[in-house]
Amino acid sequence: MEVDEVMQQIKSAFADAPAPSEDSIICHECEECLALRDDVRGHTPDELSDSWVEQSFDQLPFFSDDAKRYYISAFLRVAALKPDSLVSQYVLFSLSDGFRMQPSGGYSPQQRQAIRDFLGYIETCVDEFDQEYVTKAKALWQTVA
Ligand SMILES: [Zn+2]
Repeated sequence: MEVDEVMQQIKSAFADAPAPSEDSIICHECEECLALRDDVRGHTPDELSDSWVEQSFDQLPFFSDDAKRYYISAFLRVAALKPDSLVSQYVLFSLSDGFRMQPSGGYSPQQRQAIRDFLGYIETCVDEFDQEYVTKAKALWQTVA
């Protein structure tokens, strides 16, 4: 699968992910989590710039389950564009650990498929070390919701 196709699929699969309410973006009120909330609130994932995502490569775990489902498409987009970046590496870690992956209503079959296709794409770009995480993530996202 080509990168354009992967990105298109991510975009359409996550287009109907509901936005979290402003008071449920984060789970924790420390300075770092509040800064993340202030950066993203009022914005769609498409509005988050690639450079913001690159600076925020390690922020996915701070989102609530619902916010993670909503905003993960921005991280997947940058990770697909830049498979050798920190964003890509941390997205892969996130997809392989199952932490806060239980949003209300779950991930749709299209979203799960987009993530599996993303993993199939990224698998061709990662080194041996990260290959372990691809294998773990693929197994995790194989389970049908
Ligand atoms: Zn915090």
